[in-house]
Formats: sequence, C-alpha cells, structure tokens
Amino acid sequence: MADLLLNPTTFDPTDLDPEARRLLRATIEWFEARGKTELKRVHHEREWYADFLDFMASENAFATLLTPESQGGRWDTARICAFGELLAFYGLGYWYAWQVTILGLGPVWQSENEQAKARAAQILREGGVFAFGLSERAHGADIYTTDMVLTPDGNGDFRANGTKYYIGNGNVAGMVSVFGRRADVDGPEGYLFFAADSTHPSYELVQNVVSSQMYVSEFSLHDYPVSASDILHTGPAAFDAALNTVNIGKFNLGFASIGICEHAFYEAVTHADNRILYGKRVTDFPHVRQGLTDAYARLTAMKLFGERAIDYVRSASPDDRRYLLFNPVTKMKVTTEGERVIDALWDVVAAKGFEKDTYFEQAAMDIRALPKLEGTVHVNMALVLKFLPSYLLQPTTLPDVPRRRDAADDAFLFHQGPARGLAKIRFADWRAPYDEFADVPNVAIFREQAEGLVDLVTNAGPDADQAKDLDLLLALGELFTLVVYGQLILEQASLTRLDRDSPDQTYLVDQIFDVLVRDFSAYAVDLHGKASSTKAQQQWALEHIRKPAAGTGSYDRVWQQVRHLAGSYEMRP
Ligand SMILES: Cc1cc2nc3c(=O)[nH]c(=O)nc-3n(C[C@H](O)[C@H](O)[C@H](O)COP(=O)(O)OP(=O)(O)OC[C@H]3O[C@@H](n4cnc5c(N)ncnc54)[C@H](O)[C@@H]3O)c2cc1C
Repeated sequence: MADLLLNPTTFDPTDLDPEARRLLRATIEWFEARGKTELKRVHHEREWYADFLDFMASENAFATLLTPESQGGRWDTARICAFGELLAFYGLGYWYAWQVTILGLGPVWQSENEQAKARAAQILREGGVFAFGLSERAHGADIYTTDMVLTPDGNGDFRANGTKYYIGNGNVAGMVSVFGRRADVDGPEGYLFFAADSTHPSYELVQNVVSSQMYVSEFSLHDYPVSASDILHTGPAAFDAALNTVNIGKFNLGFASIGICEHAFYEAVTHADNRILYGKRVTDFPHVRQGLTDAYARLTAMKLFGERAIDYVRSASPDDRRYLLFNPVTKMKVTTEGERVIDALWDVVAAKGFEKDTYFEQAAMDIRALPKLEGTVHVNMALVLKFLPSYLLQPTTLPDVPRRRDAADDAFLFHQGPARGLAKIRFADWRAPYDEFADVPNVAIFREQAEGLVDLVTNAGPDADQAKDLDLLLALGELFTLVVYGQLILEQASLTRLDRDSPDQTYLVDQIFDVLVRDFSAYAVDLHGKASSTKAQQQWALEHIRKPAAGTGSYDRVWQQVRHLAGSYEMRP
C-alpha cells in the first residue's frame, strides 16, 4: 500500500521537481538530526528559531520556493503546499515563519513597483523573511477600518503613524507589507499598501502578542517615512491586494492542519497499540478502533481534497475562478476537520496527550489556530455560501482540470483582479465524480443526501428573513460544503487510481463516505434544531438522516491500514 500519510522515513514526492524534492528531504534531515528532545526543548523555552531560519537561508529554500517567474524563480503551489505540510509536521511555529513570509510577499508580487519587487527578491536571496501587516488590535476581520494613517509630507511622500497587531515575523522581517489609508482622501481611494523596514528607527517593535516560539508582533510606526519607492498599491487596488493575498495565503492553512494531524496520528496509534490494559491492547477496544478509523478516514479525506484543490488553484485564470470556492473550503473545512482528527486521537491517547515530550501536546493547541487565521471559519463559510446556487443548481460544461504537478509558474495568483462577480462563477456538474463511484455503497448513500440538498434549496430554501440569519445559513453551509468536499475527494481518488488499482483503497473511499454520511445526518439535525427553521425544512432534515452501509467489509480493511501505521514512524530522539 502506498503511504497516504507523510512519513519522513520514506517521503520522496516523485511528482515534484528534483530541487523541491531535495529541499524537502534536506529539511526532514535537519529536523530529524536535531531530534525530538531539542524540538521540544526549544518549544517549551519559546526560543526564537534563528537556527531554523539560518538553515532555510543556507539551503536557499524560501528564495527557491517563493520567488515568482517574473523575478527569476517559479511560484508553484504544489511544492509550496508540500513544504508547508512538512514544516507543520515538525511544528506550527516553523510553518508560521514561512506562512507570513508568503503573506508578506503577496502585496509585493502583485505590485507594479519594480524596485520593491527587486528588493524583495534580493532579501529572499539573502535568506530574509517577510511580514504581512494587515490586522489591527481593534478591528479584527473588519479590514475596511484601519488606523494606520499616512499623511502627505508636502514633498510627494508620506509619514505613516499607527499600530499593527498580530503581525508574524514583525521582529525580523526584511520587508513588512503594511495596509493603511491616507489622511487626506476618504473612502476606498485612500487605501495604501506600502513596504516598511523593521530595522528602521521609526519602526517600534512593541511586543510579542503570544507566548510562543513564533513572534506575533505588535509594532508601531512613528512618522515613518514612506516614499514612492515603498508604495505597493493605492486606492481600491490596495484593498484587492489585501484580499487576494489572503486568498493565496489561506489555502496553505489546510496543509498545515494535515501536517500536524499526520505527526500526531503516528504518535497516537503507536501509543495505543503498545499500551496494554486489562491484559489487552488499547487498540482492541471497539470504540478505540472506531475513533482511530474515523480519524484516519477524516485525515485521508483532508489530503485527497487538498491535493485536488491544488489543481484548481494552479489552473485558475480569469475564465476559470472555481478555485475561489475550493480555496475557502480548504481553509475552513480542512482545518476544522483537523480539529476533529485531533479530538478523536486525544480521546484515544488521553493523559499521554499532555506529556511534555510528545508532539501531541503542541498539536492539540496548534490545530486550533488554523481555522482562526486568515479569516475565521464564519467569514469563510459566508464566502462559500455565495457559490451555493451556482454550484448546486446551475452546473455547466467546463473543461476538465487535469492533475497539476508540472513545473509551471502560478502567475495568475498575483493577477487575480478585483474579487467581484463571485455569483457568476460557474461549476461543472458535481454529480460526475459521484456517478463514477456509484458502485461504492456509502458514496451512493451520500449521493442521495446530496440530491436531497438540491431539493431543499429548490423547494424549501431560506426565506427573506432567514437569508439574513447567518446562524441558520451556516448550518446550510455545512451541508453544502460536504457536497463540494466529496466532489474533490472523489476526483482525486479517480485521478490517482486510488479506487481501482488496489482493493484496500476502494475500501478507504467507502469508509471516508461512511463518515460523510454521518456528518451530513448530523448537520441535518443541526438545521432541524435552528430556532428559525421552517416546518418544511425540519421535515426535510429528518427525512435526510441516513445510516451508512454496514457489512461492506470496508471498516475492517481500513482498520488494518490504520493498525499498520503503529510503529511506522517515530521522530529521532
Ligand atoms: C497567532 C496569530 C497570528 C496572526 N498573524 C497575522 C499576521 O501575520 N498578519 C495579519 O495581518 N494578521 C494576523 N493575524 C490576525 C488574524 O488574521 C485574525 O485573527 C483573523 O482575521 C480574525 O480576526 P479576529 O480574531 O480579530 O476576529 P474578529 O474579526 O474580531 O471576529 C469576531 C467574531 O465575529 C465573526 N465575524 C467577523 N466578521 C464576520 C463576517 N464578515 N461574517 C461572519 N462572521 C464574522 C468572527 O467569525 C468571530 O466569531 C494573526 C492572528 C493570530 C491569532
């Protein structure tokens, strides 16, 4: 059986280019040689990871992976995701330094300021990192409001004053992309993105907001001079650059969740399988088997979905913006599934999950961050809901998106344009991959539930009042998201022949949909219980509760796969 989970001892992504493979292997070797004792020591002592960044610099890793073609490199989402997953496998902090570098570069690579772009490329070559200064303490998701104010100095330049909060790498970033507004221009025309230097005397590093290895800074600018060469975007384009950067960055969150869950999974299954209680292995308890099997099905589903979503991101163009749905699903669904995986594993490892020398104890905390970064789950679900009518009710014929692991530069990501017209985006018929797997019992049952959702939206959809009730809509959004999630899982299973070449894997698709059938039923019950759900909606909800197909043999086969993972990886001491 091919490894579906990242296992550092055997990891070699043959579909990536030789340099990416070398970098990934070298990074594994760096972490493993350093060992778990040291990984945990620096974690507990909240030591800034200068050695890690030195290693990244010595390997030219960030420059290789994060420089677009326009600056002599190649921005390849597939290898960026693989690298992010690997870093999170060893610790969210390492991933975070990389992630906020990606975010910080977003407004720069989207800019027409050639001088700033050349400077950024140079900083990357020198091993520097970047920061993204969007958030402020008082404003949260409300990025229309900013108190970073730029005042004209009378000579065509500006002086910036204000404070940013929650800004990763703000302690060392060679370039900090800062969002603000002009004091002399009201409304969207006044927005500005500019590049600040964290070593400038007018840049005050106030504090690290979190108690962690990573540095999530508060910084203040005091009459910080901003000249034309620092300005990245002005007016509405600055706002678009902020949103489009978040679009690029939030995709990575799902892969960080996957990396965290993978490492935690090895620890959990190995611990449970070695532990003897009442003369039996813990893995002999039926509920432990169920918990681990569900966690494995959820984790492999996260991977299958994420891998396929990469194809849509890499194939995006002004004419194909389907990625704008699959991207927030990656951010919101994959990361919340990550929480469920860790929850299930934690019930299995119990007290062990608190021990200071485990990866698990940090995973249990870190997994919570991903749903909350780059916009909350709610904000992303609200976005996903915008696509519901078009996706479910108006499918059209579109070119197939192939698997994309070619050595192309994903240039469109930096030319996404205004984030408008979402309701006009069209999707291919979601039923096609479900048809392909119609012989898999739980796919067939889930398909009935999904068809039911079309019926609900068509005949008993939200009325005018409900359309303003985001609480109710979120419940509907969960049901809708499952259909989208299932589509890409099946597409990936088909593309990788996961379903057909190996009998074990066919069972895995069935077991994944066993989980999705139960989830759909649970979300239907949730909709039923919403204060404002109508009689017709309540009736629909109860009618669409389904029991997964039992006795198909899938559960036992998948459990054998899970059991097989016990002892298959342990970080070097
Ligand atoms: C560890 C960490 C690192 C971070 N790093 C950075 C960084 O490097 N750069 C940066 O700029 N930011 C960074 N952030 C900020 C992060 O992006 C924000 O925390 C996030 O966008 C959510 O804002 P908030 O937590 O203030 O929640 P709020 O915006 O205050 O939200 C409060 C509640 O209202 C809901 N809500 C708000 N708006 C809507 C809406 N439109 N629709 C539906 N519900 C809504 C939310 O879901 C939430 O439940 C970081 C945050 C953390 C915790």
